[in-house]
Amino acid sequence: MNRFEVITPADLASASRLLAEDGNVAFAGGVDVVDLSKQSIVSHAALVNLKGLKELGGIEVRPSGDLRLGATVKLSEVAEHPAIREKFTAIAEAAGEAATPQIRNLGTVGGNILQRPRCWYFRNPDVNCLKKGGDTCYSIGGLNRYHAILGGGPSFIVHPSNLAPALIAMRASATIVGPAGQRSIELEKFFTLPTVDPKRENSLKPGEIITEVIVPAPSASTRSHYLEAREKQSFDWPLVSVAVVLDGAKTVRDARVVMG
Ligand SMILES: Cc1cc2nc3c(=O)[nH]c(=O)nc-3n(C[C@H](O)[C@H](O)[C@H](O)COP(=O)(O)OP(=O)(O)OC[C@H]3O[C@@H](n4cnc5c(N)ncnc54)[C@H](O)[C@@H]3O)c2cc1C
Repeated sequence: MNRFEVITPADLASASRLLAEDGNVAFAGGVDVVDLSKQSIVSHAALVNLKGLKELGGIEVRPSGDLRLGATVKLSEVAEHPAIREKFTAIAEAAGEAATPQIRNLGTVGGNILQRPRCWYFRNPDVNCLKKGGDTCYSIGGLNRYHAILGGGPSFIVHPSNLAPALIAMRASATIVGPAGQRSIELEKFFTLPTVDPKRENSLKPGEIITEVIVPAPSASTRSHYLEAREKQSFDWPLVSVAVVLDGAKTVRDARVVMG
C-alpha cells in the first residue's frame, strides 16, 4: 500500500484547490479509493476527505418536487428514505441492491457513480492495460465474461455503478464545483465512453467535486423500477441491470429504459 496523508479541508473552495494539485485524490466513503490504493492501482500524495463539507450533505425533496441528493449521502440513506422509495422508486431500489449493508453504510452517492470498473485486468497491479495507460485491452483475447457485449472498445470495461442507470433513467443531473466555478451536467452526458479516453469513465476535470445530484420531479403518473441479475445472490455487482421509468396511467406518454 502507498503511504499517504489524509487532509480534511475546511471548506469546498479549499477542497477544490487541493484536488487541483497533482497527485491528490478525493475520498468520501473510501470503499473504492482505499481498495485501489492498497493494490497500488492509484497512487496519490494525499487523500482529500470530502465527508465534512456541508454543501455535499443532505437529502431534500424541494417544494417543486425535485429531489436533491448531497454527494456524501450514503447509499443506505437513499435506500431507506420514504419519499425516495415512493416517488423515485428505481433510485431507492438501486441503492438498496448495491453491495452489503456495511458497504451501503459507508459508500456515498458521489463515490458510487465515480467508482472505477471491476475489470480484473484493470484491478491487477501487475498488468499495465489500456485503461492504465498501456497499449492493450487484454479482455479482447482474454477472460471477458464480464465485459461489454454491446458496443465497447478500444477498452471493453463496463461501469459497475448500481445508481448510475437509475439516475440516468430519472433524468438526473450532477452539480459540479471546481476551479472554473459551478456547472451542471445531465448524468447521461457526464459518463464517457472508452472511445473518448480509455483511461476515464466520465468528464470530471482536475479540482472538480460533485456536490449534489438533482432529480427532476416525476409526474403524478410516473412509476419506476430497478432490477438486476447477479451471479452471487448474497451480494455482488450486477451482471445486468435495468432501470425503467414510465409516465402515464393507462397510456404510456414517456418511457425510459436504461441498462447497465
Ligand atoms: C464487496 C463489494 C461489493 C460491491 N457491490 C456493489 C454493487 O453491487 N453495486 C454497486 O454499485 N457498487 C458495489 N460496490 C462498490 C461500492 O458501492 C462503491 O465502492 C462505493 O459506493 C463507493 O463510494 P465511496 O463513497 O466509498 O467512494 P470512494 O471510494 O470514497 O470514492 C470513489 C471515487 O470517487 C471519487 N469521489 C468520491 N466522491 C466524490 C465527489 N463528491 N466528487 C468528486 N470525486 C469524488 C474518489 O476520488 C474516487 O475516485 C461493491 C463494493 C464491494 C467492496
